[in-house]
Amino acid sequence: MTQPVTDHTDHTGHSWGERYAASLMNTFGPPKLVLTRGEGSRVWDEDGTAYLDLLGGIAVNSLGHAHPALVEAVSTQLGTLGHISNFFASEPQIGLAERLLGLVGAPGRVFFANSGAEANEAAIKLTRRTGRTHLVATEGAFHGRTMGSLALTSKEAYRAPFEPLPGHVTFVPYGDAAALAEAVTDETAAVVLEPLQGEAGVVVPPEGYLARAREITTEHGALLWLDEIQTGIGRTGAWFGYQHPAIEPTAVLPDLVTVAKGLGGGLPIGACIAVGEAGHLLGPGNHGTTFGGNPVATAAGLAVLDTIERDGLLAHVADVGAQLRAGLGADPRVTDVRGQGLLIGLDLSAPRSAEVVATALAHGFIINNPTPERIRLAPPLVLTEQEAASFVAAWPALLDEAGV
Ligand SMILES: *Cc1c(COP(=O)(O)O)cnc(C)c1O
Repeated sequence: MTQPVTDHTDHTGHSWGERYAASLMNTFGPPKLVLTRGEGSRVWDEDGTAYLDLLGGIAVNSLGHAHPALVEAVSTQLGTLGHISNFFASEPQIGLAERLLGLVGAPGRVFFANSGAEANEAAIKLTRRTGRTHLVATEGAFHGRTMGSLALTSKEAYRAPFEPLPGHVTFVPYGDAAALAEAVTDETAAVVLEPLQGEAGVVVPPEGYLARAREITTEHGALLWLDEIQTGIGRTGAWFGYQHPAIEPTAVLPDLVTVAKGLGGGLPIGACIAVGEAGHLLGPGNHGTTFGGNPVATAAGLAVLDTIERDGLLAHVADVGAQLRAGLGADPRVTDVRGQGLLIGLDLSAPRSAEVVATALAHGFIINNPTPERIRLAPPLVLTEQEAASFVAAWPALLDEAGV
């Protein structure tokens, strides 16, 4: 029961589905829908059918769709100064770097990129400047699709067609501090961890794992690098996942934090935030980017941070997240509820997550299935209580119809 691509014949005599298939590389499979507009947590397809977007462009649309603050900031910036090269600086670029360091709560330096994978590439290159090359990553980790970030991503199906990948990476089981302690040596440049694993299906580490990772890396002079690309910028109800007391009760200060997805609210931006000394490892000529730190993208980042702050969205994320978790988890066919804030994983009693996703779409809800038995929700941070309640109300019937 897969939803066919909306299949309208247009002035060319071909459907959008045919035109897509004939013009775009088939890296994503056929699209589920052709969408035409969005507002708040809703999107509409070309038939005018509305969908509640509980995936938020995969944790990207932090302010939902067409948020006035973001539209205003981006339009004004583009109408004032849209792009300059990195031979020059701009106010939003400097302002956003300062704000990100403020959220980490320590002095440091920021490198802006255009995506998560690129933020991670900057971090990989930075770690090489320690004079060491060994990196430790975790099983189930997702860090992106560029050659460097793919070398840190564990999924065999993503890696195998592109080997050999940049080397000297050791994978350890996620959440296992003892295995981490064993893998890290005085030759290790960095340990890279997601504070909770997103693509793996919202996997939360045991309490104390991040603090232990901090101790282990400090002991060996290695950098602790936290990939907050999915978990950062308010997604969990804290600015960064590692700062959420339910994820790590002990205060941890990493050396590197990479962010992207939710930061631009839909504008492409990524950032590699380096704390303290790590901020000086990359020098002139070591790295670069044409678009990274572009005035429009950084103005978008500032608008996102301002709006989260002004509208009290961190507390809102905690509340609506708790509402969704309790409401959806009440169905006995949900065997586990994972995650924090508005990054939610739901384990089903039967491996029918694809059927649940298709059924939900047919009933006007966009959700995602990272594994055959797991559903992931990463809705806009502005999702209202009423919208959350509408999905909770529909949930048991969706599971019935999907045969869970
Ligand atoms: C999405 C994601 C990435 C890759 O980001 P892109 O913008 O797709 O390159 C890296 N790390 C994590 C944890 C992610 O969720």
